[in-house]
Amino acid sequence: MKTSIKTSNPYNGNQLESYKLDSKSILNEKLKLADTTFKTWKEFEIEERVDLLQNLADELFKQKIELSELITEEMGKPILESTAEIEKCIYLIDFYIKNAEQFLQDDIIETEAHESFISYNPLGCILAIMPWNYPFWQVFRFAVPTLSAGNVALLKHASNVTGCAVAIEKLFLNAGFPKGCFQTLITDHKSVEKLMESETIKAVSLTGSEKAGRKIAELAGKNLKHSLLELGGNNACIILKDADLDQYIDTMVKARMQNSGQSCIAAKRFIVVESIYDEFIKKFTSKVEALKYGNPKDTDTTISCLAREDLADILEEQVKASIDLGAKVLFGNKREGAYYQPTILTHVTAKMPVFKEETFGPVAAIIKVKSEDEAYETAMNSKFGLGTMVFTSNYKAASKRILEIEDGAFFINEMVKSDPRLPFGGTKSSGFGRELSKEGMLAFVNRKTVYIN
Ligand code: NAP
Repeated sequence: MKTSIKTSNPYNGNQLESYKLDSKSILNEKLKLADTTFKTWKEFEIEERVDLLQNLADELFKQKIELSELITEEMGKPILESTAEIEKCIYLIDFYIKNAEQFLQDDIIETEAHESFISYNPLGCILAIMPWNYPFWQVFRFAVPTLSAGNVALLKHASNVTGCAVAIEKLFLNAGFPKGCFQTLITDHKSVEKLMESETIKAVSLTGSEKAGRKIAELAGKNLKHSLLELGGNNACIILKDADLDQYIDTMVKARMQNSGQSCIAAKRFIVVESIYDEFIKKFTSKVEALKYGNPKDTDTTISCLAREDLADILEEQVKASIDLGAKVLFGNKREGAYYQPTILTHVTAKMPVFKEETFGPVAAIIKVKSEDEAYETAMNSKFGLGTMVFTSNYKAASKRILEIEDGAFFINEMVKSDPRLPFGGTKSSGFGRELSKEGMLAFVNRKTVYIN
């Protein structure tokens, strides 16, 4: 039986730390503390909760260098991207400092009653199950609005970023949040099943794979608890004949290669109209060739290893099976340990794994199509629904396609990206529910109808 979680640096294989799994009694104590803290936390005025957010942002700012290094050590992200992740968390906090009060205000609805309105009340303790790819951002985008709305949270983070999970709990404590507002659990899948049965847990928020999503949705259903699922994606990046490649080629490369290709909203399938195909391939390949592989701690590294060696195994199998079905390697496809060279595959068809499945690494699947209609049709041929991006000089024509796009997001002349001001979430196998913006703030509240006669 597993009794601890060991973390290691994926770039050099060095062991980092060993964390003892929380015993049953420790988990119960954490649940109890969450319960008692909620009773007082929900009574805080919104302004008091928001005041603590400023301390949280200050803590992040003070520790930016150490926290960025921790992310990079645990999951191999190039250091400048780790720093950008911490900065994005600060930006998110700032957004909710400015807007939380207004988002949580009662909504007056005129009826024949003396007064009638919707009151937004916290639910209680929310369980968050989070992934390793943006180990701070994913947690903060859940926790900041959720706690500001008066809930408390328990975090089960991905095992390989347990150091980040522990650091995040400390940040909340240092910022002055009452003990029990935000607690990290050092635990495994089995305990999650038990936790979901607990009366204390009122809802669950999962960001992770489709497989984990199906399991957590099943547990939520069994225990009749609300769930929010942010799952995998297989975003299409459509390049139409009038796309401005000189202006947007860097965006297209970043859309696939940032975070060494490990992003749910990355462009995974490039669907290119044939009249611009050769020019796109030339420009895209030269930019991918120029990416600098190296130690993620070096500031000039633009692409690094994957977060774990087994992730490179999965990617290698997907690419190999696609090559067996006729895909051609235009660039890359070398692999060593957790490193996977940025790779461009052409002649990709809908029956290949690199088209049908999510590829979580730096592999661009290129599909040539004859027309604009075929491009959109090919893009929608996916069980996932996180987002679609299109590059074209005719944004008006692209806007006419909004209804046709079945995803949670449609970006024209920009890569799909998250922004605290805009709602974020998917459809189909990419999950359900929305984070960020006002929607994220109301994700875990009881929208109570109040009627005063
Ligand atoms: P994962 O393997 O599904 O793990 C995500 C989290 O779920 C981890 O904390 C993991 O714990 C936990 N988990 C997995 N199976 C579980 C189970 N049966 N019971 C309880 N907990 C379980 O995903 P990942 O590899 O960390 O992250 C990559 C995936 O996340 C990709 O598919 C990516 O697209 C998706 N993602 C989606 C979004 C979005 O916003 N839609 C954002 C980022 C990532 P352990 O680490 O202990 O296994």
